[in-house]
Amino acid sequence: MIDRIYLDNAATTPLDPIVAEAMQPWLEGRFGNPSSLHASGRLAREAVEQARHQVAALLNADPGELVFTGSGTEADNLALVGVAESFAPGDCHLVTSRIEHPAVLSTCSYLARRGVEVTFLPVGADGIVDPAALQGSLRQTTRLVSVMAANNVTGAVQPITELARIAHEHGTLFHTDAVQAVGKLPLDVLAQSIDLLSLSAHKLNGPQGVGALFLRKGVELEPLVHGGGQERGLRSGTENVSGLVGLGRAAELARVTLAEENARLVLLAERILTDLASRLPHAYLIGDRYRRLPGHLCLGFQGQEGEAIRLLLTLDDLGIAVSTGSACSAQHAGEPSSVLVAMGFDPVRARGSLRITLGRFNNDADVCRLLEVLPEAVESLRPITSHLAMT
Ligand code: PLP
Repeated sequence: MIDRIYLDNAATTPLDPIVAEAMQPWLEGRFGNPSSLHASGRLAREAVEQARHQVAALLNADPGELVFTGSGTEADNLALVGVAESFAPGDCHLVTSRIEHPAVLSTCSYLARRGVEVTFLPVGADGIVDPAALQGSLRQTTRLVSVMAANNVTGAVQPITELARIAHEHGTLFHTDAVQAVGKLPLDVLAQSIDLLSLSAHKLNGPQGVGALFLRKGVELEPLVHGGGQERGLRSGTENVSGLVGLGRAAELARVTLAEENARLVLLAERILTDLASRLPHAYLIGDRYRRLPGHLCLGFQGQEGEAIRLLLTLDDLGIAVSTGSACSAQHAGEPSSVLVAMGFDPVRARGSLRITLGRFNNDADVCRLLEVLPEAVESLRPITSHLAMT
């Protein structure tokens, strides 16, 4: 049995044992409903509120400004649908970007079918939204601008502080899908003037199926889920106490380790880039060289773009888990990436990237092993590629 190396941390991250330890009592033994008045209920409520404080501290938010959800996707839906439904459809225009995660893009399509007007901002070849494009898109009826903090395919970090400023000058709310950025980039909702922000626990070494929406005090939303009135009536349903305890502990760990961890991941990723530049000259980095999440590499291999899935499977056989940058789910793995298409890639090249994303539990040895096998794995696909090209 080979030791598997996990380099797909943008898809999900392993649960940190410290987080698992915090959750443990709530998985066996403790079980109160936070809405109950008895001691078990009060203990559960305390645990949920502690998690709220921990998440708030990571974002420099007020704990009262957080709404817990069941995923990052749900937080995005709550932000977009919640704001849009506070207005009549004909009186609501949303602005987002062409590189958003389907959690935002599909929600915008849903809203468009209900009469909401949506503008999709373009990006440059670097995968970054140009603030000038936002400026030109704003209308009298623009109610919300939603641009992600960092892209899940390229890792490109978006100029959200500037975008928020432009939105506010126009009197429009600003939401950011920060699912990839929280715990990796320093975020400060106050200093950056963010009105709504989505996050997800499983991207920061917390549990899957837990998310949150930061909602600045005073911002009005229509809830998506109606019922017993939990989460200030914005997300009914008995809280996932163990999951929230995990999210809280994960947020606290991320806050304490963020700076040091970022520096470490930047060095590991640079080592991969430098090594590949000398050994695989036809490899290229997709997206901005510097405005990128630490530890996030989206690579293309000139002339071999049609082979990304075969490369992924070859690496998988060798015990290394990576992802193609194409689609966010295995069912759509062979389709061109809408993010790369938005960056100007033709459909063949947009199918062919390899995403390597490092995380907390990766080390030098993992990078060494990757560098040992990747050049050969890429080269091994060459003869078939050229054969196919000739037929
Ligand atoms: N937004 C972005 C940018 C993501 O990368 C993801 C997950 O990959 C999501 C939203 C969805 O988050 P969740 O998996 O918690 O639903």
